[in-house]
Amino acid sequence: MELDLKLTGCRALTMDPARPSAHTIGIWQGRFAGLDEQVEGLPATETVDLGGAVVLPGFIDAHTHLAWNGRRGRTIDVTGVTTVAGVLERLANAPGEGWIEASGYDRRIMDRPLTAADLDPVTGDRPFYLADLSGHACVVNSAVLRQLPGITSDGWLTENEQLAARTLRLPYSLDEIVGELRESARQVLAEGVTMCAEAGIGAGLIASSPLEAAAYQRARLPIRVQLMVSAHVLHPVAAEPADGIARAIDLGLHTGFGDDRLSLGALKLWTDGGMIARTAALTEPYAGTDNAGQFADTEELMRAAVVDGHHAGWQLAIHAIGDRAIDFALDAVAEAQRQRPRADARHRIEHCGLVRPDQLGRIAELGVVPVVQPTFLWAYGDDYSEIMGAERAPWMYRGRSFLDHGITVAGSSDRPVADGAPLRAIEFMVRRRSSGGRAVGPDEAITVEEAIRAHTLGSAYACRKEDVLGSITPGKLADLVVLGDDPRTSDAIADVPVLATMVGGNLMPQR
Ligand SMILES: [Zn+2]
Repeated sequence: MELDLKLTGCRALTMDPARPSAHTIGIWQGRFAGLDEQVEGLPATETVDLGGAVVLPGFIDAHTHLAWNGRRGRTIDVTGVTTVAGVLERLANAPGEGWIEASGYDRRIMDRPLTAADLDPVTGDRPFYLADLSGHACVVNSAVLRQLPGITSDGWLTENEQLAARTLRLPYSLDEIVGELRESARQVLAEGVTMCAEAGIGAGLIASSPLEAAAYQRARLPIRVQLMVSAHVLHPVAAEPADGIARAIDLGLHTGFGDDRLSLGALKLWTDGGMIARTAALTEPYAGTDNAGQFADTEELMRAAVVDGHHAGWQLAIHAIGDRAIDFALDAVAEAQRQRPRADARHRIEHCGLVRPDQLGRIAELGVVPVVQPTFLWAYGDDYSEIMGAERAPWMYRGRSFLDHGITVAGSSDRPVADGAPLRAIEFMVRRRSSGGRAVGPDEAITVEEAIRAHTLGSAYACRKEDVLGSITPGKLADLVVLGDDPRTSDAIADVPVLATMVGGNLMPQR
């Protein structure tokens, strides 16, 4: 046997308990063929000496938004702008015609909230949409409000009203989406990410087009992608009653369809909003307010989507950030399993942001996978700690408690809501320090190896890909990342350079 590629001089941390480290990695036909003495004696078409560089399995981002991220790069950016005058200045002389799109608005830091009346003199009759960085709100001008006759607003729209405004703008063309995907794939590769789970296509707030999946097929990205499908596209089907499927997507496609490059992942459902917009559903109000957030829809409709999706064979990815939404998600999953038990359904809770101590046991018992975004707390931990108050702040985006309860933790970014770099997230999981230097739930700190595991094997598990991805194990797909330093000994993990990534045996230098 002749290997396609032999990597020597590695300090590989394989994440495979059967063989945790390796110095030589053999690759054949896009897969790991063997390690160390298993491949040392074999000839190879190409041999690359990594000179002692640290090698990890490729990072898997279990919840991200590639199209939205790529689009953000094309819109007018108002990130960090704190005054109405400052925002208007950025918008003056917007190029092109038709819709004007902007992003990066942060209502919390403004001198006063921006309104349609402020915008109209600058934007004129062109419809204008400014996305709040939470993803759960926006500001629009009167040209948009006029098209939403049922909505009374000064321009600030959240949740379902935001969705109504967003829907006016859709769809984007496949060419636009393909361009956005390619730009995002380039970015994530540079950060060591070899697979992304796109968190919701086809409908809803983050949809781009009803043809969205076609864009992923056309784009032929250099990374692996799994598509979560928005539950909004489930529709009644006239299946034989014995199949027990009331609603499905066309052709009965569901989780697992596709191949190792592009596949269907979970069915994405939303049960509440987010912490930045103060719409995450809590059992007790946000500190110092009487607002306890809100559900995304009626409980009846949300429960029906969970049950129908479960019955139709989907893995579910249920967006639930506040503890009240998490209660709802756990109850709905328990109900679906009671009606029709499915072994290893492996339903996920996306974000799983505020988990009360009494909820940990239920998450473990139901086998639900929390898909967390540690970088949220690096970026917004100071604010979140304030709005949760002293008792609840340590319950946010847990790490140690999940692991101690035997729960598999999956790392993700929710890019572009927060910085997407896995090494940034890993550093936060270990140090539990916000960008402002505040300790956020320090008891939830985990080890570097556990944090790497969450972003490799843990996220592979959340995507039902742990049989082929997530560790450097002979037989698995040859995805890895080459680092310039060892995160286990570095005191600035987020700054460790990514030297190269490999997807399916194809080594791609990054710098
Ligand atoms: Zn998301």
